[in-house]
Amino acid sequence: MTTYVCPVCRYPGLTEPPRTDAGPSYEICPSCGFEFGVTDDDHGVSDDDWRRRWVAAGAPWRSTTSPPAGWDGVAQLGE
Ligand SMILES: [Zn+2]
Repeated sequence: MTTYVCPVCRYPGLTEPPRTDAGPSYEICPSCGFEFGVTDDDHGVSDDDWRRRWVAAGAPWRSTTSPPAGWDGVAQLGE
């Protein structure tokens, strides 16, 4: 299955492109919780702003599903 990288947190497991010419995916990133088309379009929060908030919160896994084994939000960002 093709997966896509979250532009906010670099999580590589999104199931749809976050945004195409047809519009946003409305997928919620399980890693950072960003909802493409809602967090940005409806709430006016940019990728950068959301990333800063997520990192400030400790880069936690945001989904109710379990993260991949060994998942580390900060390491994922590569910073
Ligand atoms: Zn993300």
